[in-house]
Amino acid sequence: MDTFIMDQTARLMILFLAVFILFVLIIVFIRIIRLRQKLARTNKEKEILNAKCLEMESMYNETLTSLGELNIRYDELNKHKESMKKLAYTDYLTELPNRTAFTEMLDSIMLTLRSDEIIGIMDIDIDNFKNINDTLGHSYGDELLIDVTHRLKQAINENDYLARIGGDEFVILTQNLDDTASYEVKIKKVRNVFNFPFVLSTKEYFVTVSIGVGFAPKDGKTAQQIIKNMDSAMYMAKANGKNTYAYFEPALNQMITDKMELQSELRKAIDNKEFILHYQAKVDINSKKISGFEALIRWNHPSKGLLYPNDFIYLAEESGLIVPIGKWVLKNACNQLNKWSQLGYTDITMGVNLSARQFKDKDLIQTVYEIINETGIDAKRLELEITESAALEDIDYTIETIKEIQKFGVSFSLDDFGTGYSSMSYLKRLPVNNLKIDKSFLDTIMEDTSDQKIVQAIISLAENLNLNVIAEGVERFEQEKFLQEANCNEAQGFLYSKPVPKDEAQDFLKNTGTI
Ligand code: C2E
Ligand code: CA
Ligand code: CA
Repeated sequence: MDTFIMDQTARLMILFLAVFILFVLIIVFIRIIRLRQKLARTNKEKEILNAKCLEMESMYNETLTSLGELNIRYDELNKHKESMKKLAYTDYLTELPNRTAFTEMLDSIMLTLRSDEIIGIMDIDIDNFKNINDTLGHSYGDELLIDVTHRLKQAINENDYLARIGGDEFVILTQNLDDTASYEVKIKKVRNVFNFPFVLSTKEYFVTVSIGVGFAPKDGKTAQQIIKNMDSAMYMAKANGKNTYAYFEPALNQMITDKMELQSELRKAIDNKEFILHYQAKVDINSKKISGFEALIRWNHPSKGLLYPNDFIYLAEESGLIVPIGKWVLKNACNQLNKWSQLGYTDITMGVNLSARQFKDKDLIQTVYEIINETGIDAKRLELEITESAALEDIDYTIETIKEIQKFGVSFSLDDFGTGYSSMSYLKRLPVNNLKIDKSFLDTIMEDTSDQKIVQAIISLAENLNLNVIAEGVERFEQEKFLQEANCNEAQGFLYSKPVPKDEAQDFLKNTGTI
């Protein structure tokens, strides 16, 4: 029995052990399966991770490439920016700094200027540059600007700053001047470079400049103010007859404002019938009879009274108003000539002044033709007066124009002779009929023997060239006597008559009697 129980117990224990081992095995098995599943999952994740890694690596490489491109672009952009800046600060034609560069430079100098420091500035403007452009074309104008740049460079020191701040306008800036007077030497140097002609289109041209001079800080505290004042000084140099220089003075700005006002009034003067003509007699030096008149314009200004040509002709020239004003003069002078001719004074001539600008006007020939026809004058009695300097600006054009107008019967006088730089060879080529010796020779003729010789030489030269000679500005009998002995043909001056209104001129005609 005991053995049976023992067997049973042993069996039970074995069973229990077997069940336990089975259980353990099952658990181990499950864990292995789980582990394997986990491993499989981890492998998959690892693969995904690897793929992601690769993806990121390629993204990283791509970013690097883009970054490289971006750097190149950035460099290009910088270069572009630099060249744009250069372009904005450089004058394309002469490669000099331009107005912006000059202004910024001057501004920065002014910010750090010591109280004992002096800066000298020249504003250099080419006279009548427009003529070069108009007659020769813009490419020759450009050539001239480049030539002028080269010459100006020769006149300056390495520390001077040269810029082109406008079409035909240059500036030279000099720092650390000892005093303002020492600047005069530099101004002379700059002017001297224009003593020689410029060769354009195989021809020689003399070019002059007007220079405005100023000093900082005396003439301005900011670049803007200095540039404005320099411009005023330059404007003054132009108004003083060009080919000269002027220093800035505070009163200049007021003068310029006045001038602007006068110019705008000048615009309305023809319509307002404010112009009148005065007539100055020309006298045959031997018979003392009136040979003709010269028409001289005056402006009956509403508030300033009677103004003389010197007060406004240059303004009319500058603005181009001289063309309509000159037309008005020609028409009225011809009308007057016609009236006197109808009164029986058929032998007298009428001199009419043509300014340089008028002479170059493309409609001049047509205008003269129309006025002769409209007024019905005998064209042989009309004498157009041009100055030497106007005639020589473009001698071929002058010769051609004079010849065309002479075809109508009109004659020409070379006015203010002796004041320009005419050479004898030029004079020989000009088809003028009369020479008017400038008043300046007559002024000193009785005191200055060299003036006597000049006048004698001009008269014999004119005789040889078959020209009629008229002496201007005769005020005294001794002058008249000298001219008579020198074989001068006609005289004009206060000795005979001042320029007078038409009625007085007519009385003078009546009294002197030419009929
Ligand atoms: P211009 O053609 O040389 O005219 C002669 C100038 O000398 C005139 O001055 C006249 O009054 C002055 N004069 C004549 N005889 C004497 C004299 O004996 N003594 C003195 N001290 N002066 C004398 P005005 O009328 O003031 O004219 C000045 C200039 O203005 C003229 O010089 C001429 O170049 C210009 N002008 C006058 N009228 C006209 C015009 O209608 N058109 C143009 N374009 N210019 C004109
Ligand atoms: Ca004249
Ligand atoms: Ca004259």
